[in-house]
Amino acid sequence: PALKRLDQLLSNLGYCSRKEARYLLKDKRVTIKGEFAKSPALKVDPATVRVDGEALDSPDGILVMLNKPLGYVCSHDNNEGMRIYDLLPERWEFRNPKIVSVGRLDKDTSGLILVTDDTKLVHQLTSPKHHVDKVYQVTVDSPLQADIIDAFAKGVVLGEGAEQCLPAKIEIISDNVANVTLNEGKYHQVRRMFAACGYHVEALHRSQFGQYKLQDLAQGEWQTVAPSSEV
Ligand code: URA
Repeated sequence: PALKRLDQLLSNLGYCSRKEARYLLKDKRVTIKGEFAKSPALKVDPATVRVDGEALDSPDGILVMLNKPLGYVCSHDNNEGMRIYDLLPERWEFRNPKIVSVGRLDKDTSGLILVTDDTKLVHQLTSPKHHVDKVYQVTVDSPLQADIIDAFAKGVVLGEGAEQCLPAKIEIISDNVANVTLNEGKYHQVRRMFAACGYHVEALHRSQFGQYKLQDLAQGEWQTVAPSSEV
């Protein structure tokens, strides 16, 4: 295994700053193979290190799926209200490399958002070239008419003809509810596509992103997932 300097390892994983590492050690909160660590400069195998008796977060990186509740923003900025990062372990915000969301959901959209420290993966999953499918459950203000299926299949034109969407799939599941599958991600795309067809979106929930599905993950909960081999 790759050996890493203990203080650097702990600070990159967000447990403390490099300077603070020595205090963590002094307070006997860090062990290596069961023995209290003494030197912050020691080169260690990350798998042998424990903080407060717990194994370290994997140094291989983070990829989690979160079920975003309504009212949370996909932003690091503390001035925009409740942040999705507030739902994750606090130390993750101090990681290096930083964690980011894979694209964004609106504040008033719920459902599946991926969070990772892997910028290459973010690119693969969000690049328009890769056409990753995203599935949304949409509730609108009036009964859905069948002609929307054709309109979505042809590619909805947004605004004043400025932007043409790629063909999208819509499955009407009850009067006011449909499942929509998109493989692009324009700004407020789902809301704008329905607006262009004369509907107002009252609720929007993402259930799937590429191969990842929320299934029974509760609102506000997250789980680690394996990197996709599909993209
Ligand atoms: N489309 C939207 O309009 N909003 C979202 O949050 C996601 C897709």
